[in-house]
Parts: sequence; structure tokens; C-alpha cells
Amino acid sequence: MITGVYHTHTFRCKHATGEVVDYARAAAATGLARLGAADHTPLPDGRWPGVRMHLDELPAYEAAVAEARRDVPSVRVLMGMECDVGAQYFPWYRDTFLARGYDYLIASVHFLEVDGREVSAFGGCRGAAALRDWSGKCLAAIDSGLFAFIAHPDNIACGDAVWNDEVAAAVDTVCSAAAARKLPLELNSLGLRERRGYPWRPFWERAAVHGCGVVLSTDAHRPGDTAQGLDELATYAAGLGLRVVDPLA
Ligand SMILES: [Zn+2]
Ligand SMILES: [Zn+2]
Repeated sequence: MITGVYHTHTFRCKHATGEVVDYARAAAATGLARLGAADHTPLPDGRWPGVRMHLDELPAYEAAVAEARRDVPSVRVLMGMECDVGAQYFPWYRDTFLARGYDYLIASVHFLEVDGREVSAFGGCRGAAALRDWSGKCLAAIDSGLFAFIAHPDNIACGDAVWNDEVAAAVDTVCSAAAARKLPLELNSLGLRERRGYPWRPFWERAAVHGCGVVLSTDAHRPGDTAQGLDELATYAAGLGLRVVDPLA
């Protein structure tokens, strides 16, 4: 029984709709006890401005969390942020968010650096150099101790991904480190809703072997999706013997 959802967005990231209070109301309507706002982080260097909130929107975001806490008292509203890896940003995330009262952070690898070029991790993780960058970013997030979980670690399944020994070795490295540091990995129902190729079954078979904890998330970009697909994810996790955890209960 899932009672908390911690990966939801707001209009500020420019590809989602709704305000924190709308997601909190949706959480209340579906019987959730906890709702975490975790919009796409701004970056101190203004990177990826088309799909992230702007730095000067932070005070309004924080006020929106406070407003949702006031207006929907039946739900515990947590203030979080979905943070791109980039270890170079970790000190800034710590000082700007955790040191200023944010409840938690999520680590996400949305972009990879391959041979000096930036490629999307959603479909662009092909070959040894890309896998090396991907696993290095995941390991940096795991080792940092800053994050409550890693979002959609299997987004590398997007596109025409093929499971092979090279991919399995990289996934084993990440899963075994996550299990050792007790950092949960996220099963994400946005992948199901948009048929993106994740959840990626061979990935989660390896996660089960390593005994990784798993967080069920909706990655809602619309208030109506706040609790969408949680039952399906729970069935999926149970079918693979994955251990579902709630890092913020
Ligand atoms: Zn998004
Ligand atoms: Zn997200």
C-alpha cells in the first residue's frame, strides 16, 4: 500500500501544469498521506533553461509549498527538488536546498557527456563511453549522500536499447553500489503512461538480485497523474520480488 508520492512537478519547469496545491489536492483525493513537490531544479549557471525553473522562481516555489501545507492539511506536503547530476552542482544543491530546510532531493541523470558532446540519457545511452558516463554519474549521486533516491535509473532503455553484457555490467555496478549504500532506485509510472521503454525489466531483474530498495513514483507533470499507475508499479515490483520502500515515511 503506497501512502506517499515524492516525484511531482509544477508549471515552473515549463513542461508541466499545475501548482503544488493542485498536486496536494489530488493526493488528498486519492487517499495519499504524503505528497512531495520535486520540480526540476534551476541551475546556478542557468543550464537547460527550457525545461527547468528559473533561479529567481525559487522563493515562489517555496511559498507554493507553504501554501499547499496550509490549504491541504490532511496531506503532509514535503518540499523537494529533482536535481540533475552533475557532481559539480552537488555543493550548490546542498547549500541551496538541504541547508535551507528542503525535506529531500532526488537525483536524476537526464543528460550524458559522450566524447565532449551532450546527449539525452533518454535514448542516447549507447556504447561504452555513454555507459561509463551514466554509471559514473549514478555512482557520484549514490556516494554523495545528498539524495533520497535516484529517479528513473532505467531511462537508458528509451529508444532502441538492447540489453547486452556491457549494459548488464554497468547496471550491476550501479545496483550493487545503491544496495550497499541503501539508496533506493525509482520505478517510474511516467514511463508506463508514455510507453517510453521503462520500467526496463532486465534492469529490475538485476536490481532484485542485488536487493535494491525500490521507490514507486508517478513523476506527475499534471495534477491528474499524481497517483496514476501506482497499483501497476506495485504489481510489477511484486512480480520481480523487489523490495518496495518509502524513504520519507
Ligand atoms: Zn519533467
Ligand atoms: Zn521528474
